[in-house]
Amino acid sequence: MLAGHFGLAAAVKAKQPSVPLWALMLSTQLLDVLFVPLLLANIETITPIDKGGYGEAIIHANYTHSLVGALLIAIVAGALAWRAWGRNSGLVIGAVAFSHWLLDLLVHRADLPILPGNLGNLPLLGFGLWAFPWLSAAMEFALIAVGGWLYFSSALQRAKEAGPAHRSWAIIAGSVTCSLLLLLLVMDFTGLTG
Ligand SMILES: [Zn+2]
Repeated sequence: MLAGHFGLAAAVKAKQPSVPLWALMLSTQLLDVLFVPLLLANIETITPIDKGGYGEAIIHANYTHSLVGALLIAIVAGALAWRAWGRNSGLVIGAVAFSHWLLDLLVHRADLPILPGNLGNLPLLGFGLWAFPWLSAAMEFALIAVGGWLYFSSALQRAKEAGPAHRSWAIIAGSVTCSLLLLLLVMDFTGLTG
């Protein structure tokens, strides 16, 4: 679900323009970024369902995507951002990093543990929206539509304040962002991304 997470980052960028865009993009995907080396090391795994298309997988990301693990990652990311760019950015980055887990909670089948390593075999979480591909794709589309629209209008607004010469740059930045979000959604839905 790359598109949905990035859509949220674009919406946050519109509301918090002082936080660097790359940091928002990275923090919204941080759990999945950390998932990659653990996947390669076989510590976390993916089991495809059927052909393994859009959302058709059970993901055993027992460390990066455990509730407590995600909170710890968000706290560390937030603390680093706080040191670099101040308190407000720290809080925003921490919240955006944790938002990844909340969005995953909606779409994942019940495969998200509470404690790292699924300690104590507590119940696994996930509302399983991925079992209804069109519904979860619609949710992702709503996220990128809102994110893209907020990003576009805030870029135009800031260009207005900065003078007419900035307007075309704002339109280019807004269009590129919206196109990339849409492209990611298509890639998500056709199973090119997770
Ligand atoms: Zn994830």
